[in-house]
Amino acid sequence: MRKILVTAALPYANGELHIGHLKSTYIPADIYARYHRLKGNYVVFVCGSDQHGTPIEIAAREAGVKVEDYVDYWMKNHAEDFKRMNIEFDIFYKTHSLENIEMTKFFLKKLKENGFLYKKKVLQLYCKHDGMYLADRYVKGECPYCGEQDQYGDHCEACGATYEAWQLKNPKCILCGNKPEIKEEEHYLFKLSAFSEKLKNWIHNNPKFQKSVVKYVYNWLDSLRDWDITRENYWGIEMPFEDVKGKYVYVWFDAPIGYISATIKWAKENNRNWEEFWKNRDAEVIHFIGKDIVYHHYLFWPAMLIGVNDNFNLPSAMPTRGFLLLEGRKFSKSRKWYISIKRATEIFDPDYIRFYLTLITPYSLEDTDFKLEDFKNMVNSGLSDTIGNLIHRTLTFITKYFNSRIPQPGEYDSLDKKMITKLRQTPTIVGKFIEEFRLKTGLEEILGLARETNKYFNTKEPWKYVKKEREKAATTLFITANIVASLSVLLSPYTPKIAERIKKVLNLEKTLQWDESGTFILPPGHAIGKIEIIAPKITDEQIQKLREKLGIRQ
Ligand SMILES: [Zn+2]
Ligand SMILES: [Zn+2]
Repeated sequence: MRKILVTAALPYANGELHIGHLKSTYIPADIYARYHRLKGNYVVFVCGSDQHGTPIEIAAREAGVKVEDYVDYWMKNHAEDFKRMNIEFDIFYKTHSLENIEMTKFFLKKLKENGFLYKKKVLQLYCKHDGMYLADRYVKGECPYCGEQDQYGDHCEACGATYEAWQLKNPKCILCGNKPEIKEEEHYLFKLSAFSEKLKNWIHNNPKFQKSVVKYVYNWLDSLRDWDITRENYWGIEMPFEDVKGKYVYVWFDAPIGYISATIKWAKENNRNWEEFWKNRDAEVIHFIGKDIVYHHYLFWPAMLIGVNDNFNLPSAMPTRGFLLLEGRKFSKSRKWYISIKRATEIFDPDYIRFYLTLITPYSLEDTDFKLEDFKNMVNSGLSDTIGNLIHRTLTFITKYFNSRIPQPGEYDSLDKKMITKLRQTPTIVGKFIEEFRLKTGLEEILGLARETNKYFNTKEPWKYVKKEREKAATTLFITANIVASLSVLLSPYTPKIAERIKKVLNLEKTLQWDESGTFILPPGHAIGKIEIIAPKITDEQIQKLREKLGIRQ
């Protein structure tokens, strides 16, 4: 039995989740976790709300609510979205928690003890009027490189340059509009540059990392800069050191520690030991992420884990995927060009979204395009026509000619044997793809099985034989019904609710393991259930509804 900790990137508690997040991170992670549970492996799937940092603080201030209430609101909102999509975490926790504060302080102390934190004098902007230091997002001015006006204190949106806030020309406090003064402050920096060789070896020796990701991580490795992890007047975790009393740690330091603290919370609630996953070498830690956070997960995070030198496991894989476009354009919240999870699930079966997003998402950094017509066509042809039709014709036939009971098969001919071999082999093939994170290919394989079974049914023409050579028809239906039963297992990581509906029409009550899907699940004589439509087609009206919400004119 494998021990696997699956994590999905922590959603930032500042705004609605959309289907792009599902595509890159949450659906792949959920499929992977569900599959391994079915394989009988020991899986814990953790996630949590990422709750610190300046953007949250500013947004809460603008909304006129306490920051604690603000992050609580978004945490609940995100948890509801995950529920809508049947993303089944073992725990959805938060970074503003006692467990995370404690673990973050532990990391800071250990890193300092081990010589990986050092102090440096840095220049900071201070607003006398508001009596506070200005974080990057609290100050605007002219870009020191191109002169573009109205730029934040960390980088210029016009020329892309990054710089320190004090370098801005004519800086202004965004709260009061006054000109801040430059003050010298002592900060702790994390010595990321010291990990260059170690990270290189670690990445080089891990065949599970995607080649395309590794390629650009290598580019960064030769010029790693130490990382200023200290912030003044900040919504975050306080530094545990006397000499920087009242200062805070940067959100990207405590966010990944959230993976550990969520595991700790889960372990407490379930009477388990979190170290089984984080410190036992038999365990695997797998982070599912989007391509925008590669830097943090391939460099900062493992360097932190190595630096504390406390026997932590390093991630064994970090499946990374690209962004989702909508009809060829980037998602944009300000232009309302995005599909929120809430909106999507108000119109469509969540499994349809899981199905389509999986089929258009390769295991790569490539961006993929959500097209409304394409969505309708792929769901209707794959789920309704191919899978739905196979189920419907099989069960209708059994109901009509075999008194709703699985018939006793006769002798197998070569075509029957071919289908039985296919039934036996598909779970292994699909399983291998899922284990390699090639989820799209796995789903295509399942669709292939359904397609071939439909063809087999057509070739066998049981409707012709059922009267004169009943045994022949019985054999065909025994095999197709068992393939349908197998689909109820194979589909369950991908489309869990559809899988449940298949089990229901088959009157299958027991819990099935993945490997059972390669066997005859339904014995002769088994009584099937009442026939229902498993996957009704997406209608033009539904698509039109979404179009209207997005403001697309026909
Ligand atoms: Zn510029
Ligand atoms: Zn001010």
